[in-house]
Amino acid sequence: MSGRFAPSPTSNLHLGNLRTALVAALMAQASDVGFLVRIEDLDVTRVAAAGDIATRQVEDLAALGLRWDGPVVRQSARLELYRAAIDSLPTYECFCTRREIAEAASAPHADGYRPYPGTCRNLSASERAARRDVRPPALRVDAQGACVTVHDQWAGAVSGLVDDFVVRRNDGVYAYNLAVVVDDLAQGVTQVVRGEDLLTSSPRQAWLARRLGGREPLYGHVGLVVNAAGHRLAKRDGAVTLEDLAARGISASDVLSLLGASLGLNHPGEPVTLLELNRRFDPAVKPPTWVWSRDA
Ligand code: GLU
Repeated sequence: MSGRFAPSPTSNLHLGNLRTALVAALMAQASDVGFLVRIEDLDVTRVAAAGDIATRQVEDLAALGLRWDGPVVRQSARLELYRAAIDSLPTYECFCTRREIAEAASAPHADGYRPYPGTCRNLSASERAARRDVRPPALRVDAQGACVTVHDQWAGAVSGLVDDFVVRRNDGVYAYNLAVVVDDLAQGVTQVVRGEDLLTSSPRQAWLARRLGGREPLYGHVGLVVNAAGHRLAKRDGAVTLEDLAARGISASDVLSLLGASLGLNHPGEPVTLLELNRRFDPAVKPPTWVWSRDA
């Protein structure tokens, strides 16, 4: 039984990512389960473009004082697992472009996600063959319109309709929604603490976990860190990574205190250790949205 933090190595961790990692570690400790770090580096083109950010991400987690069990796992070394999982799922080929989906789908959800309307579900073999000549297919699960309810530590019961989501993209890359579930099951992850933006993906992922013969973890979706305008923190907001902050004289232990204060665990500026934060953390209290302004 474990919790985990699973960053994508697309850019250095910012305060939002670091805060989520901290809460995931505190939550694992409070529940007396292990804690794992996994690098979600399946999207090799984006990852290559970003250089070896994964190494830096792991160093930053360590600089904050976080410790984890066993080696850091990289999804790029686990492709065989994803292939085997797909073989056991009901799937179909989908030839739709983004634009076709946008035109055919109902309005996007609040998070921008467009449920797939099932356009390619019932293509005949000859129709599929004709379309394969034009573009390579993505693979979608056939979820049969399932509705799944998951339990979130802070949001309570969260229900969602499961659309026929993509498990392998048409460039052959395994989709996040597939790999995250396969890995959480394979690694014995029983607790998933992550940003609130992924709450609406949870019913989809729980459906897949059950379909693969497992159980979904207990979820805990943490309030996001936002900038002064109320938008989700991003690198362009400046002064958001450990490197940026160090350049302004704010050390990793200052950042730990800053994050602890954002969670109500210590006073602003009070020096704290991870051990002390572990003692003060209350899993019943939802980590709220936190407004970070570079001039704070
Ligand atoms: N790799 C995902 C991200 O960095 C997080 C996945 C998850 O925690 O389920 O946004």
